[in-house]
Amino acid sequence: MIDFQHEKCIGVLGGGQLGRMLAIEARRMGFRVVQWTGGEESGAERMADQVITKPFDDQGALEEFVEAADFATVEFENIPFQLVEHIQERVPTFPKAASVKICQDRQLEKEFLRDHDIPTADFRIVESAEELATARSEIQGDVIIKTAQFGYDGKGQMAVPADDARFTEELWKPFEGVRCIVEKKIQLVAELSVMVVRGQDGEIVTFDPAENEHKDHILHLSIVPARLPINFLIEARQIAETLVRSLDYVGVIGVEFFLDNEGNLLVNEMAPRPHNSGHHTLDACETSQFEQQARVVAGLPIGSTTLIKPVVMLNLLGDLWKSPKEAPDWNPILSLDGGKLHLYGKGEAKAKRKMGHATFLGETVEVALEKALSILP
Ligand code: ADP
Ligand code: MG
Repeated sequence: MIDFQHEKCIGVLGGGQLGRMLAIEARRMGFRVVQWTGGEESGAERMADQVITKPFDDQGALEEFVEAADFATVEFENIPFQLVEHIQERVPTFPKAASVKICQDRQLEKEFLRDHDIPTADFRIVESAEELATARSEIQGDVIIKTAQFGYDGKGQMAVPADDARFTEELWKPFEGVRCIVEKKIQLVAELSVMVVRGQDGEIVTFDPAENEHKDHILHLSIVPARLPINFLIEARQIAETLVRSLDYVGVIGVEFFLDNEGNLLVNEMAPRPHNSGHHTLDACETSQFEQQARVVAGLPIGSTTLIKPVVMLNLLGDLWKSPKEAPDWNPILSLDGGKLHLYGKGEAKAKRKMGHATFLGETVEVALEKALSILP
């Protein structure tokens, strides 16, 4: 038997598609990967050298993980930050627990932005119907209620138009007992995101901003380069860099922006890990967001973020499947020049579930977009 123990091992907390793509890139670079999935069936486990499926509060699993890993990272922000704290005492871990803690709680995240003078939509912290009424009258206009924790893809959110005449008690009912933020609804001109990579030594690079189109609060398309005036793209990169430095963040982080109808760039939220709007970097950039994460975690130099070709990324949701086990015909994607398919190995398709993505490279972003749109039903 060959002894592979000399290869350094990256420990990944979480078992979703981000962990899977990270494992693929890390193993290509000669790392071993231990994936602690916490029990969710996902498709990530098949790409790892070692898999731990026990829940995140299992002491034996913690020992197994720190024993196997030379360094650790998260692929999912809802890993209990206390667990990340325990792990970082034993093995070098990036991002740090303090950053994960802020990014996994909308209240801490929004307060961090406000305290650092980083522009963001007006908000209030709300824990009762009474506070909701006060927040609505102070913010004025349409608002969105968001649970402070565990939201994703628009889950845990409710839009409340200014003229919604329902009683406050009725609006608050679904959120009873839950800490929330109430946020001003922004008149969106565009949504952007900037992937930032910061090394252990503080070196910082950004990828070209992505222009993101959502459908039902779920990312639908990412378009790079973004079709917006260059001043917005420069400003978004600058704000993202300032934010990441203020957070003293180490690793890969996605910073989501709103562009409003008055030309303001507002930070929406941060994701302390590779991000869906950075998937195009696998096919269209000199270094992918996943390779960057492996490099930072292992203390290696950060790679170039240069975009090699204009690209559009299209999310493939379970809705496209003919039945839970019957995938659509991929030939239309694969027969296009510059069409690439990524599937996440999830056992069963469900509505709104992210099953994979496709990227479309083109000589111009318009050509890439045309290819992406051509395969949609
Ligand atoms: P998550 O991505 O965690 O589900 P977000 O806060 O990013 O939650 O919301 C998802 C999407 O909902 C955003 O990308 C945006 O399209 C829309 N949205 C969220 N908050 C606002 C807001 N304040 N104004 C306008 N649109 C919003
Ligand atoms: Mg979001």
